[in-house]
Amino acid sequence: MEDSFKKIISHCKEYGFVFQSSEIYDGLAAVYDYGQNGVMLKNHLRQYWWKSMVQLHQNIVGIDSAIFMHPKTWKASGHIDGFNDPLIDNKDSKKRYRADVLIEDYIENKIEKKIQKEIEKAKKRFGQNFDLEEFLRTNPNVLRNQEKKKAINEKLKNGLETNDLQIVRQLIIDLEIACPISGTKNWTEVKQFNLMYSTQMNATESDEALYLRPETAQGIFLNYLNVQKTGRMKLPFGIAQTGKAFRNEIIARQFIMRMKEFEQMEMQFFVKPGEQKEWFEYWKKTRLNWHTNLGTPKDKYRFHEHTKLAHYADAAVDIEYQFPFGFKEVEGIHSRTDFDLSQHQSHSGKKIQYFDSISEKSQVPYVIETSIGLDRLFLLTISENLKTETLPNREQRNVLCLPPALAPNQLAILPLLKKDGMPEMGKKIFDELKFEFNCYFEDKDSIGKRYRRQDAIGTPYCITIDHESIEQETVTLRDRDTLHQERISISELKSRLTDKLSLAKLLEKLE
Ligand code: ATP
Repeated sequence: MEDSFKKIISHCKEYGFVFQSSEIYDGLAAVYDYGQNGVMLKNHLRQYWWKSMVQLHQNIVGIDSAIFMHPKTWKASGHIDGFNDPLIDNKDSKKRYRADVLIEDYIENKIEKKIQKEIEKAKKRFGQNFDLEEFLRTNPNVLRNQEKKKAINEKLKNGLETNDLQIVRQLIIDLEIACPISGTKNWTEVKQFNLMYSTQMNATESDEALYLRPETAQGIFLNYLNVQKTGRMKLPFGIAQTGKAFRNEIIARQFIMRMKEFEQMEMQFFVKPGEQKEWFEYWKKTRLNWHTNLGTPKDKYRFHEHTKLAHYADAAVDIEYQFPFGFKEVEGIHSRTDFDLSQHQSHSGKKIQYFDSISEKSQVPYVIETSIGLDRLFLLTISENLKTETLPNREQRNVLCLPPALAPNQLAILPLLKKDGMPEMGKKIFDELKFEFNCYFEDKDSIGKRYRRQDAIGTPYCITIDHESIEQETVTLRDRDTLHQERISISELKSRLTDKLSLAKLLEKLE
């Protein structure tokens, strides 16, 4: 697993997808840049999301709000007081950890694994007669471990919710959790650490702190009235936005999984109070379908229900994907109640309500949010589609089997030789197709090497120009996945490729 993750990271660098930020100055921790191929894949993923929300729904519109917002925004939203991570240091290794993650890892590695072992043993013992549900309900070892898990989770929740961090620390001591680096249990106190970056508007000492937004959602809440009025929107309706968010993640790890500057794609769906459960279920289903529409098998995803809810939520679920390092969150679906709009209403003094003609009452709308990290989606896409294959000639190739509409280069135009009119013909084809598709042109190196490079980038089709092309106006079209090569006439290229490379076709499958 470690190795396959390392391979993904080095592939991203080698083929111009992701670079460490400021690499020539030895890099900046947890900050990354997207290269020539990465930016294309990222743009295509963003478009797939944006169109699925804004273009496919007549009641969802988009905005692009500023990163800077009035400082009161973050007081009202609860981020100044509550957007914290509980951190603890090991005094010997001097390493810092998220206290809640240490406890969650203990549950996963110590208790969950024991339960899984019992299940595997029983499966072998009972064979075909094995009934998982009954086993989980009756086996004393499983029951004991589940009780233990429940008790730990309850204590953790209690400690975090009441902000009694002594409870959290005591849990770490009682469970005898040791630092993975030093191996000791020599822990400091647990301290809350706010994740927002602060700066100033006018660089004067007395200036009120301004924050870099830690989520794009608040820009949507602040524009609720503007959009509702100017767009004459009626409930239920949604506002979507993509953009940068910033969090001072102390324990940044796992490449672009946890960054200090990242991109979110969020949609707030405003509904009448009382309808939130129904819409929560609707968006859970819709979003999972959006993921699997990209070809990723269903069993690579799971829903993770939150036990400890954020201060604004009455229900929350994560969509987790099985990364090489385990199941981890890519998207959150949150039922945020009327918390945010009510808070902004009382802090700003502006009425944020709609008039319900049936009950004849004015009310603050409820919100269902879908929030996905574009960078995590990017990592998911590379993890899922990067494969090493042995070809019929026993050569190995790294191939990125991306959905064709998302690939950085959709077509590679490759003159076989750099003479006899082939490059000129290649350029002519490039100029004809470039308006429709992302084309790449290359006439250097052996054709085998060029195919390998395009496979590694994920180019779904290569168009090769040879002597016959000059004589007969035909080219070979090579399919990345089947390796099948077909000779077709140049005039047919556009019509043959349009559907295969079209984002619209991918979107149609969602309906
Ligand atoms: P985590 O528990 O992993 O810290 P979160 O629950 O704080 O994530 P949300 O606040 O729900 O995340 O943000 C929505 C989405 O934004 C996440 O599902 C994730 O895809 C993305 N995201 C959050 N923090 C980061 C980060 N530091 N780097 C990259 N993506 C992030």
